Amino acid sequence: MKAAVIHQHGAPEVLKYEDFPDPAYSPNEVLIKVRACSINHLDLWIRQGLRNVNITLPHICGCDIAGEVAEVGSAVKGIERGQQVVISPGTSCGRCEYCLSGNDNFCKQYEIIGGYERNGGYAEYVAVPPQNVLMKPGKMSFEEISAIPLTFLAAWHMLVTRARIRTGETVLVIAGGSGVGSAAIQIAKTFGANVIATAGSQDKMKKAKELGADYTINHATQDTAEETRRITNRRGADIVFENVGKATWDKSVQALTHGGRLITCGATSGSDVSLDLRYLYRRQLTIMGNYMGSKGELLQLMKFVEAGKFKPVIDKVMPLQKAAEAHKLIEDRAVFGKVILKP
Ligand SMILES: [Zn+2]
Repeated sequence: MKAAVIHQHGAPEVLKYEDFPDPAYSPNEVLIKVRACSINHLDLWIRQGLRNVNITLPHICGCDIAGEVAEVGSAVKGIERGQQVVISPGTSCGRCEYCLSGNDNFCKQYEIIGGYERNGGYAEYVAVPPQNVLMKPGKMSFEEISAIPLTFLAAWHMLVTRARIRTGETVLVIAGGSGVGSAAIQIAKTFGANVIATAGSQDKMKKAKELGADYTINHATQDTAEETRRITNRRGADIVFENVGKATWDKSVQALTHGGRLITCGATSGSDVSLDLRYLYRRQLTIMGNYMGSKGELLQLMKFVEAGKFKPVIDKVMPLQKAAEAHKLIEDRAVFGKVILKP
């Protein structure tokens, strides 16, 4: 098969489009013919290489996969060749206390398809466990549905499960033009929040408003904390949705109201931040971290997708041959929403 493979860590150019052996699938797995795979920041980090994380090379990235069932392992029941499917990105043991209490993303064996160990969807074929195979909503294209799982799952887990968003609260979404940010705007609006989104250009601010943001802040030219206070009559935000890290952290913390909660799932601009503990306890703030979400949550949010409440935000669809170019566009922050690769 053809695949975009990394043989070494580094700049986007290390992604090589080449012939690669077809994935072997066990009797307990399903072989998927990939029709679309969306790019996430996780793919960029894996390509660049992570300190203290051993990734077996060569590796194929890509955890947001949509396609058709090509082959079904002999021990798998209830899945048939030709079915149009979308793949749940997380795998886990299914036996431990976390898995059995619905927190499979806490499992010691939790892995993401295309993540550190399993090969992913930057390829014509990928082998996945049957538990990860979900039917594709009929009215959505492969490209559209591939833009949903990881970003919406992370944003849902952050806002709904962890931060317990309530109607009427003010949510500040940092980088509303990112994949996870554009999901957060839609989820926060669906739950009745007032949404302030930040973006780095007038064009992205306009698009954030089209997605439902009530107010926008240009984080390149405006003071996010000061603007948030102005918009909320000096009150501040109940929830700050972070995924940028170092470049935005101080203003994100300052934008919180008393009792506010900040939740973060990323550090695209750097991870070493500081925190004044006096500010934390005097204002009674809560700071939460987040990594993915459970499969049960993905099934919940897919109902909103099927009902048309959540829409995939796609900037570009590109052929898999251009995987390196696509990574470069995301690194340069030249996109709003997701970039999709098509094998
Ligand atoms: Zn487990």
